[in-house]
Amino acid sequence: MKSGIVFNIQRFSLHDGPGIRTTVFLKGCELKCAWCANPESQYPGVGVQYDKTKCIGCGACVKACPNGGVACENGVVTIDRRRCTACLSCQDGCPAHALSSEGTKYTSGELLNVVLRDRHYFDASGGGITLSGGEPLMQHGFVVEFLKAAKGEGLHITLETAGHSERFAEALPYIDLLYFDIKHPHSAAHAAKTGVSNELIIENLKMAVREGTNIVARIPVIPGFNDGEDLWPEYTALLKNSGVLNAHLLPFHQLGQQKYRSHGLAYAYDGVPSMPKEKLGKMRDYFANEGITVQIGG
Ligand code: SF4
Ligand code: SF4
Repeated sequence: MKSGIVFNIQRFSLHDGPGIRTTVFLKGCELKCAWCANPESQYPGVGVQYDKTKCIGCGACVKACPNGGVACENGVVTIDRRRCTACLSCQDGCPAHALSSEGTKYTSGELLNVVLRDRHYFDASGGGITLSGGEPLMQHGFVVEFLKAAKGEGLHITLETAGHSERFAEALPYIDLLYFDIKHPHSAAHAAKTGVSNELIIENLKMAVREGTNIVARIPVIPGFNDGEDLWPEYTALLKNSGVLNAHLLPFHQLGQQKYRSHGLAYAYDGVPSMPKEKLGKMRDYFANEGITVQIGG
């Protein structure tokens, strides 16, 4: 049985698909979106989570690490992922509880048992499970094994994905609803802010359409990146040409800002204001006039 790394399991979720759901957040993402609200999800392995707001700068963690993986400068701790073996000696040595484990290993069977605890709620509400991340398909072997088992139990499955996976096709047969991110219609702009171009993503989107998957395109609307009115016709053309007629506009927010601060990470969108409601309303109306069923949020 394969194992994978999960960084959070959220029960009774009402916003990640129909009905009551259990959302499983998997670690690891090939993309490095500059506005990412879950920066702790990007690193694929089990790691150490640092809460700068609790740290007193004592340096005990530096001494506790057997691998020389911790540095403490000017009261701020950094963990060298290349040296860290996730032994958690630094967590044990920290008097301020500023360090904790980031990610938990599960076999696909163990994860299935966890999500099945809420089967009654799924059945009563028309809900199910949602895989999110990070990018779930970065752990494709584990995820496909888990999806197969979950489908065998008759669970409704939603996959939230950035679509950047060479092995996307293997997951598709088990997906009831695909929340598929489209971050920018231009490949170069996409690469500049996410670290990858969008060709593979568009190919996978078209493949999912061909396979008859129920798809909602999700567009994170990011100030100065993809919110320009000149891009709206390109977005709607891309969706219509791909055969996707449902979309969610996900306005930029600052809910992840504190995570960057507490992890001691630089944040490119520090202090950037949220998207104005009027602009989002105009964007929604434009999409609707183009024949796309669209909502703000999702
Ligand atoms: S988890 Fe272990 S190896 Fe990693 S930084 Fe902490 S003490 Fe060092
Ligand atoms: S993380 Fe803990 S042990 Fe390390 S410097 Fe901060 S308070 Fe001290």
